[in-house]
Amino acid sequence: MQNLAWNFAAGLLVGLPLAALAYRAKALDAKAALLSLLLAGVYMMPGPAVFAAALTFFLSSSALTRLGYAAKEKMGAAESRKGRGAAQVLGAGGVAALLSLLAAATPNERSSPFALAAIAVLAASNADTWAAEVGSLSKSKPKLVLNPRLPIEPGTSGGVTLLGEAASVAGSALVALVAWALSPLLGVSINVYQAALLALLGWAGELLDSVVGAALQAKYFCESCGVYTDKPVHRCGSRTKLAHGLRLVTNEVTNVIATCATAVIAVLVFG
Ligand SMILES: [Zn+2]
Repeated sequence: MQNLAWNFAAGLLVGLPLAALAYRAKALDAKAALLSLLLAGVYMMPGPAVFAAALTFFLSSSALTRLGYAAKEKMGAAESRKGRGAAQVLGAGGVAALLSLLAAATPNERSSPFALAAIAVLAASNADTWAAEVGSLSKSKPKLVLNPRLPIEPGTSGGVTLLGEAASVAGSALVALVAWALSPLLGVSINVYQAALLALLGWAGELLDSVVGAALQAKYFCESCGVYTDKPVHRCGSRTKLAHGLRLVTNEVTNVIATCATAVIAVLVFG
């Protein structure tokens, strides 16, 4: 118990300057920065492996968000200038935090299936962010999985590009690689085979996100521009009409559905 409290405190301590920096750089808004700090503590509870995976996700995704920001903003695919909000942080990191708590509650295992599943889910979140951030710079138009003929806007959930998928694989592989390479230092045992599975699960999680995004997530049609978008009010200012999917299934809900499914699959794979 005492150990868990120490680990939590260590996570807060390492997370504090990062959350402060992310807030100052407007990568996160105030609530999102506080929530990230809390998550940093939780990720450290089962030991530093999940924390290292989360840190890889946080640093690499923040860097890619800034990549070509002006071009993304022009296309309407950029993140808000105020930074990501708390709902986005919870959508991307909440399930990994739950798995982290489960891993912390089942100690004395050098490779807890929950810790590995948490890393897989973080790999999926990284894959998802890389796919969106790099994919929105793609010269070719995104295609909606399951319905490639619909004209959709870059940055719309469920849309995929070849460049985005390549980035997705790389984003997932990076998290798996860091976890594997640092595993002796992080006090976990992750072999090459498990690392490959982590990378594969992360990519599968991103694909699942695209499928759920295309199948269930609310898609609105802007009549003035003739495109499908995630947003009820289009960036041109027109009110849009719900054309497809469920109004309740927002981008964050899609994330949670996909990450929960990825988490269950990962626990079964590593259990
Ligand atoms: Zn419009």
